[in-house]
Amino acid sequence: MDEDWLRLSLIEHYAYCPRQAALILDGAWEDNHLTVEGTAAHERVDHGPTDYRHGVKVHHSVDVACERLKVFGVADSIEEDADGVLCPVEHKRGRGAGDIWPSTAQVVAQALCLQEMTHQLIQEAAIYLASERRRVVVVVEREQSRVEALIREARATLFLNAIPLPTSNRKLCSSCSLKVACQPGEDLWM
Ligand code: SF4
Repeated sequence: MDEDWLRLSLIEHYAYCPRQAALILDGAWEDNHLTVEGTAAHERVDHGPTDYRHGVKVHHSVDVACERLKVFGVADSIEEDADGVLCPVEHKRGRGAGDIWPSTAQVVAQALCLQEMTHQLIQEAAIYLASERRRVVVVVEREQSRVEALIREARATLFLNAIPLPTSNRKLCSSCSLKVACQPGEDLWM
């Protein structure tokens, strides 16, 4: 695999904060209570290759990739209905710092991978918010061009090997697990 392939999880981090994604690519990662709870939410769904819920087949922890966009990763779960229609579902603890865009970007990128892999039009993806016990449905076609632009921007930025400046959005920093590594000495605990 060429070096300029991007992990799907990195696309989510980039959508949250470009500097966060660059620091992770550089080897930094620190868990905080949000990432630990997020991992626990994943572990509750990543428990086996396939099972059934309400008559829908659910494939867990599926490797996906898209040659056209040069992205790859693991989808939490992919639902398959009785007609063979596929829908990737990302499981999240909550909305992060209030914005669902990073999760949307990740799950739509998964849908685009599945589309290329199966030659099937993936119309919908979904995000399950554990804290709200709610499923948010995403129309893939509606988000596709924004997500593809994000992937292009992320690749151009991250493979420059330069770390972007900190975001001016302190709300993002206050929930970020990398705040100490990112801005040592700064008071970001709002
Ligand atoms: S602390 Fe703020 S600027 Fe630094 S990586 Fe996190 S969100 Fe980005």
